[in-house]
Amino acid sequence: MLTGLKNYIGLFSRVFNQFNTMDKAFIPISKPSLSGLETTYVGHAVQSTWVSSLGEYITRFEKEFAAFCETKHAVSVFNGTVAIHLALHALEIGPGDEVIVPDLSFIATANAVLHAGAIPVFADINPDTLCLDPDDVIRKITSRTKAIMPVHLYGHPAHMQRILEIGDQYGILVIEDAAEAHGAKAFNRRVGSFGKCATFSFYGNKIITTGEGGMITTNDDELNEKLRHLRDHAMLKEKRYWHDQVGFNYRITNLQAALGCAQMERIDDLIRGRKAILEGYVQRLKGMPGLSLNKCASWAEPVCWLVCMEMDGISETERDAFLLHLKENAIDSRPYFYPMSDMPYFQQKAITPVSHLKSSIGLNLPTYIGMEEHQLDYICKVIRSYWS
Ligand SMILES: *Cc1c(COP(=O)(O)O)cnc(C)c1O
Repeated sequence: MLTGLKNYIGLFSRVFNQFNTMDKAFIPISKPSLSGLETTYVGHAVQSTWVSSLGEYITRFEKEFAAFCETKHAVSVFNGTVAIHLALHALEIGPGDEVIVPDLSFIATANAVLHAGAIPVFADINPDTLCLDPDDVIRKITSRTKAIMPVHLYGHPAHMQRILEIGDQYGILVIEDAAEAHGAKAFNRRVGSFGKCATFSFYGNKIITTGEGGMITTNDDELNEKLRHLRDHAMLKEKRYWHDQVGFNYRITNLQAALGCAQMERIDDLIRGRKAILEGYVQRLKGMPGLSLNKCASWAEPVCWLVCMEMDGISETERDAFLLHLKENAIDSRPYFYPMSDMPYFQQKAITPVSHLKSSIGLNLPTYIGMEEHQLDYICKVIRSYWS
């Protein structure tokens, strides 16, 4: 009877909270910006009947994306994870090889290395950029290291100048995971144009989206050909249905590319819009003790994939309590990624103190085109009053 009553109250309060939350119009952390142009282009693709992996939007999307990144080539694929896998496979990085990755990233970075059969080696990050710390990269290099894979986390570029120098010095390839940083610049150059190649994601919450989608950019003609060959079952151009090796079906569809072409026409506005949102937070949260938002290195021109908030000196429990408070006030948020090396399928714990510290104190706030001033006012009011 008592448990029944408790359950009933539990259910009621859940329903009530949900109602309450809906009443306050829940503010999501992310939302794609889709205009009439996206609808038009996808409509064209449907009408053309070219809905699969051939079609004019695919070539156009690749051309425009390469031009945007200032690279010779851009090879579209089905998502950002297979982009990394295909790049590693094409560069013949596999069993026995090590790839140095930052410990703080979305898990796809390390998983794609595992899919290729190679070993991800976790290096620490710089506390300001949240990206690969070049000095720790050097410490992690062994005779088996084949590649360094910097991630431009949350839109801030990694220190590509030093990372390229290290790559050159040790004869190791550099592959950028630029999934979160379309358009960001380091040393006046767009990310995606630095390494042997770079990979991007067009997942629904990224800077631009194709629903699911990915891209590999490169200046290397031979690698470009190899990637195109491998993504299409490794079928010979000269001899259909003849496959000279084990390939993949990693192709994007014309429907996705249609969405991508529309987004490419708007990408400068989308990047500007995200920057304006960050500035909105910065203005409203100015002077709050212990708080820091997205940083910017002197050599960097980041994009704002997500607004990053860190509170000095708090514990993970305190951070999580704050996330819950935001949720109770109908504001979506998320903690920074966990260090990838902490996942249960990695046997050896990495010594990456900065990644672990940042992971425990950081969180991301709502960042999407279409956020309104009054929403920013409300979120920042909730933040200020919680920490005062
Ligand atoms: C999103 C993301 C990926 C994977 O992209 P998907 O398109 O979701 O497969 C890889 N690396 C990083 C850093 C990401 O943020």
